Amino acid sequence: MYDLIIVGAGCAGCVAAARTAINGFRVLLLDRHERDSLGHPWVNGVERSVFGGLGIAMPSNEETMPSPLSSRLVSPSGKHCIETTSNPTVEVRMSFFVRRLLRDAMQAGAEFRGGTRVSGPLLEGERVAGVRTEDGEEIEARVVLDASGWEAVLRHGLPETSPVPREIDERCMVTAWREQQRFDPGDAPDVPALLGIPPDVNVSRVGWRGGYSVLMLHWDPRENELDILVGYDRDKSEETAGEFVRRFLEEKGVGGRRHYGGGGLIPVRRSLDVLVDHGFMLAGDAACMVIPAHGSGVASALMAGDLAARTASRCLREGDTGRENLWEYAARYQRQRGALMAYFEVTRSLTADFSPEDMDKLIGYVMTPGDVEAGLRAEPLGVDVKDALRRLRSLRHPLFTARFAFHAAAAISLKKAYEAYPERYDPALLEEWRSKVARARRHLES
Ligand SMILES: Cc1cc2nc3c(=O)[nH]c(=O)nc-3n(C[C@H](O)[C@H](O)[C@H](O)COP(=O)(O)OP(=O)(O)OC[C@H]3O[C@@H](n4cnc5c(N)ncnc54)[C@H](O)[C@@H]3O)c2cc1C
Repeated sequence: MYDLIIVGAGCAGCVAAARTAINGFRVLLLDRHERDSLGHPWVNGVERSVFGGLGIAMPSNEETMPSPLSSRLVSPSGKHCIETTSNPTVEVRMSFFVRRLLRDAMQAGAEFRGGTRVSGPLLEGERVAGVRTEDGEEIEARVVLDASGWEAVLRHGLPETSPVPREIDERCMVTAWREQQRFDPGDAPDVPALLGIPPDVNVSRVGWRGGYSVLMLHWDPRENELDILVGYDRDKSEETAGEFVRRFLEEKGVGGRRHYGGGGLIPVRRSLDVLVDHGFMLAGDAACMVIPAHGSGVASALMAGDLAARTASRCLREGDTGRENLWEYAARYQRQRGALMAYFEVTRSLTADFSPEDMDKLIGYVMTPGDVEAGLRAEPLGVDVKDALRRLRSLRHPLFTARFAFHAAAAISLKKAYEAYPERYDPALLEEWRSKVARARRHLES
């Protein structure tokens, strides 16, 4: 029997595997992909500070790509924009980075089995006792970690009595695509002119199709490379972000050679309320650990993988992997990172029903360069609510102003509620906490 089985060799799974195996435990890491096709084939912007904080070497060489000199956040009408020159993130080529994390895990003693598709948890009453593969194999473990990304292959198969939410509201899913196209120096079209962007500036148009939507374009004149990122609420369109990118570039007459890229779905909401059960933990996208303001999940996944390994190692040493003992992981995550997720979920909720005109007001009259950078660093925004309200009042849009004021207050109450997440598992305390969260959120969805 294994001490820990991890489903999903993404960033959460590999870090958890390395940090549990190094403590001498028998760890099995499973992924449906073979080793040389592991890791998403797209670039993710990741908070720089997370690498030093977790003792992971900063991505370099083939694992990364150059950052633009400056960034511009543009309102839907193009009338307002916010310029920033410092970039708190590093651009990471995920397939290269994740394969390095896997090498680290295997060197620490974890066993990796690629080409293994897991179909669900192996249950013993209320306890998760291992996993089942699609080939019908049953593999037992004392703890199982679901790090299988947004598909959360184990979570859906938990018993009905589990306090872990098995399903999430599909409306939080965002379709996203990012790719880099290279052009031959001799016959490159004038990409900046065709797309209406300056070279060397990362231009992000947010709210361009209402609600949560972003279209980011960057032309690097040294590499003759176009970087494009598109993301929007899935139910707003039949078209996936990847299909949109194809059509958009075709219509603009820009057709290069895809150099790196891909896409999929992102669960853009606060982390799940409960992250553990008997013999079971969740981390990364499987637990919805994505910053809802912009859909970044790598830093949270790395942090959660590290925290999960610490708790799992202690519980394995003590010989008790029940829900109560594993709870420490949930409490530590929710009180820090989870509180930020909840805070930023309010930003998403504020803009969810916004028309492009409302987004214009937000970017033109409320947000500052400091807010954009704070969001990318995953820090609470420094919005001076009184000052913003004064500026908004001059716009004479009382409904918009009221909505903004209400959301600013809700963000702070929700963050506080998560900072007071129950320290131990107690159904009554959990219920009380859930009511507090529901109270803070009660008008957000109406
Ligand atoms: C286009 C796009 C752009 C993004 N941009 C950013 C960004 O700029 N910054 C950022 O931080 N985040 C970004 N994200 C989100 C980020 O990619 C995820 O948050 C992150 O990869 C989550 O890591 P994870 O370890 O939880 O899961 P994943 O990296 O998704 O790993 C899950 C693993 O589980 C495996 N798996 C799944 N099902 C099974 C199964 N049944 N059996 C066995 N194995 C299975 C998969 O093969 C995969 O290897 C972006 C996402 C997209 C789609």
